[in-house]
Amino acid sequence: MELPYSEPYKIKMVETIKRSTKEERLKWIKQANYNLFNLASEKVFIDLLTDSGTGAMSDKQWAEMMIGDESYAGSSSFKKLKKTVKKITGFNYFLPTHQGRAAENVLFSAMVKEGDIVPGNSHFDTTKGHIEFRKATAVDCTIDEAFDTSNMHPFKGNIDVHKLETVFKKYPKDKIPFVILTITCNSAGGQPVSVENTKAVSKLCKQYGIPLYFDAARFSENAYFIKKREEGYADKTIKEIVKEVFSYGDGMTMSAKKDGLVNMGGFIALNNKAVYKQATVFNIMFEGFITYGGMNGRDMGALAVGLDESTEFNYLESRIEQVAFLGKKLVEYGVPVQQPFGGHAIFLDANKFVPSIPRDEYRAQALAIELYIVGGIRGVEIGTVLADRDPFTRKNRYPELELVRLAIPRRTYTNNHIAYVAATLKNIYDSRDEAKSGYVIVDEAPIMRHFTAKFSKI
Ligand SMILES: *Cc1c(COP(=O)(O)O)cnc(C)c1O
Repeated sequence: MELPYSEPYKIKMVETIKRSTKEERLKWIKQANYNLFNLASEKVFIDLLTDSGTGAMSDKQWAEMMIGDESYAGSSSFKKLKKTVKKITGFNYFLPTHQGRAAENVLFSAMVKEGDIVPGNSHFDTTKGHIEFRKATAVDCTIDEAFDTSNMHPFKGNIDVHKLETVFKKYPKDKIPFVILTITCNSAGGQPVSVENTKAVSKLCKQYGIPLYFDAARFSENAYFIKKREEGYADKTIKEIVKEVFSYGDGMTMSAKKDGLVNMGGFIALNNKAVYKQATVFNIMFEGFITYGGMNGRDMGALAVGLDESTEFNYLESRIEQVAFLGKKLVEYGVPVQQPFGGHAIFLDANKFVPSIPRDEYRAQALAIELYIVGGIRGVEIGTVLADRDPFTRKNRYPELELVRLAIPRRTYTNNHIAYVAATLKNIYDSRDEAKSGYVIVDEAPIMRHFTAKFSKI
């Protein structure tokens, strides 16, 4: 008999989570204006809102918390982190920031100006927000296969090189500050980018003299998929693959709350000294001095250890196979999910799950709310609410996909929790024909509305 994968750790500390009744949840979600971001965490049983900063640290990371150097300048924890970032990514310059969007804010302040074009593969919402905030435009060049949830393409995060070249030809070089390649591609469903594609994008960028930056929040998970799916990589270590991928780019922004295996943190790493120097000024202005950039010394130490742990195969196997465990159960139950499964989350295809709810009534949001009401499980809408309004016409943008993301925190839940989630979804799916109407937005912010929008039931 083939042995199943197994977690390369055992549990040393536990946190109680509370179950609630359906009646309680109906009341609570109404009080939260039907926005899952508004729910107090103790009202949630299994929290799959995000995998960002929600994972469990290891004993070795906690040990670092005790020996952090909190010196304002020249902290040894900073040196430890800087050395690890260089070792893992290969990039020469490094700036810590308090999280990923702060890294974007600092780097983009140095590089993006009004009227610029920033091509990429389905930019993450904060990335797009930071581009549009500067009155620049994010152009999505993801391959078309990414938008078909049943297409089994192994690297649905890939950039369509022809689409990219069309953008390069259409705009002058000085209007394109860089290309941003998100690994894994969060907005396309946690889908990986292959080495082959990264190389092709890098080559085209060099040909046109445009820098290539990575939005690298899940670079380790991306490397796991390369090892499993791309020819010629099966015998390489995760660390070797990571190093190779980064060697094709000029720099990266990092949300350490993902593959950094910490609860808060981020950084920029890059090779261009002039850009580094400019970014340094913004880092000091927005984040703090260059040897801490909004992070505690102890957190920088824990991040250094986290980067080492997240680039180990055994950890990644148990992480990604747990996500796949949820995906496989849902497929077994007939529930429509995006395939192949993403690295950090399973995405329910709301267009197929609840086609009876009109699109302008936010069907994916409606499904996410139902999952909370029935099971106390919190997922998140990745659809029309998240896609926001067009900044010029102020009309709703309808993305090709209406998804509910079930993000799995790292090293946090057991497979019994996951089985509970799958069973809850099966029950909802079996009664899906009863879902006829969704929600209207009664209040929303001018940008990134999904965090604070208030809804009412139709
Ligand atoms: C989370 C994330 C960000 C933003 O990082 P924060 O730490 O949440 O600010 C940027 N890009 C991607 C792909 C992400 O997943």
